[in-house]
Amino acid sequence: MANTPALNKVKVPKIFILLGAPGSGKGTQAKKLAGEYRIPQISTGDLFREHMTNDTELGKIAKSYIQEGHLVPDDLVLNMLRHRIARPDCKEGFLLDGVPRTMFQAKAMDNILDPKMQVVCLCFDVPDSVIVKRAEGRMICKSCNTIYNRDISPPKVPGVCDKCGGGVYQRTDDAPEVVKERLKVYHELTQPLLAYYEKKGFLTHFNGNQSPDVVHDELKKFIDAL
Ligand SMILES: [Zn+2]
Repeated sequence: MANTPALNKVKVPKIFILLGAPGSGKGTQAKKLAGEYRIPQISTGDLFREHMTNDTELGKIAKSYIQEGHLVPDDLVLNMLRHRIARPDCKEGFLLDGVPRTMFQAKAMDNILDPKMQVVCLCFDVPDSVIVKRAEGRMICKSCNTIYNRDISPPKVPGVCDKCGGGVYQRTDDAPEVVKERLKVYHELTQPLLAYYEKKGFLTHFNGNQSPDVVHDELKKFIDAL
């Protein structure tokens, strides 16, 4: 049988944990890496959606929290995660985006991860001021969801989408006070994880204050050398 080398496969199955503030570009990088290394990207949002769509017991409980505007409890998140990573597509590794979010989740997760797999934590550093500024300039077409930036890539005609002619507006989610509140929660809840993973020797920092392609290239170089 011909020996066709797999493209860009990770050598040892790895668990990538992506860390960084909301707006640090973590989700974008997660998507690129998942495609590049052909491993599933697992986010809490996807877990919730899947369970709610399939109307599972866990999904029903999660829905009751989400509908009331509450955070889904840690043990519920972990339970969903445990089920998800037991599936065959996670055997060659997977990528976690947005989980663990708290110290409780991080510690509990240590007990459910396969000890034979290598844990690699990638942290994207972007100053808060840059995240606020990025969000402030972000605009989106309400018809086709194309994203623009007031400063870097505005639509040719102000307020009108280049692609479909739809209205381009700023989401309330991107307003500075909303972004600052999200960052505050991140620093309180999630930032302690950095020290936790640093101590274990799992953590590597990346400069997220660069174009997404440059960040991706740096990540790829790092991962391929692991
Ligand atoms: Zn549009």
